[in-house]
Amino acid sequence: MQPECALCGSKESAVLRTKVRAGVERKVFRCNACGLVFLEPRDEDLKEYYREEYRKVYTPAPGRVSASEEIFKTYLPMQKIRLDKLGGILHKEARLLDIGCSAGQFLKAVAPHVGTAMGIEYNESDAAFVRSIGYKVWSVPIEETDIPLASLDIVTVYQTFEHVKEPQRFLKSIAKYLKPDGHLVIEVPNVHDPLLTVFADEGYEDFYYKEAHLFYYAPDTLWRTLERAGYKGDVTTIQRYHVLNSFSWIYTGTPQRSAEVGMGEPSLPMAQGVDEDVAARFNAWIRAADRAYKDMLIDLHLGESLFFIGTKVPETSA
Ligand SMILES: [Zn+2]
Repeated sequence: MQPECALCGSKESAVLRTKVRAGVERKVFRCNACGLVFLEPRDEDLKEYYREEYRKVYTPAPGRVSASEEIFKTYLPMQKIRLDKLGGILHKEARLLDIGCSAGQFLKAVAPHVGTAMGIEYNESDAAFVRSIGYKVWSVPIEETDIPLASLDIVTVYQTFEHVKEPQRFLKSIAKYLKPDGHLVIEVPNVHDPLLTVFADEGYEDFYYKEAHLFYYAPDTLWRTLERAGYKGDVTTIQRYHVLNSFSWIYTGTPQRSAEVGMGEPSLPMAQGVDEDVAARFNAWIRAADRAYKDMLIDLHLGESLFFIGTKVPETSA
């Protein structure tokens, strides 16, 4: 039976793939009508998987807090791109909620620029770490928090919305907590990523699609998803990974040893004893090339992640 598209309701779709990360057998569909890419909806058999996953996530295991601290330290320097995107909407009295706040790296980065920075994080270890560094955090859906309705200036949802099973319900629920002129910010992976659409890197494809990601948005499908839920705004793309990371994928078909290596400014591996000035010239060249690469990707809407900033469309009272 053909699954129904969550965006347009069409039952006509094509099977893009039959496997996701780690060789797991799951179909990935693309809606023939609107182009939304989505994972085969879960059936009864997958309930057990979810229970298992749930237990893993909610069992406080030794060492998990330090894992949270590692996530925090690794990703803290990479929040600048998000802050820069938010520039115009941040203000000293703003009440901000970061849904899926992970180890609190964005909360830490944004806190000096807003009045209140709070988070929602289902992973109890990460949530405990976020509390330990001084932020209010819940591990329940927004409706189960004690946040007052229409009280938030900014809600950010970074690399989380693609996990959400009922996107429309989720977006409409956030709308109730935003002030009338409040902003919603969403960052999700871009299914038009050049490693999928320009370079057709098979290793990357096997890595990119994964069980936890239920939807794979492109600029137009993300925009329409938000429009349908009553938001208006702009979708742009960002590119956090540098040009050497792309080439590493192209030539090896495998990820680099950590996300950290692939982010920030690229550095070329240098032989021992290379003249310092020569090394500096080479690195200046690869960094200039990286800036040009990123500018081109953003210009073509091919950056690795989509970035939406928008507001609620006022309800018309005729
Ligand atoms: Zn559709």
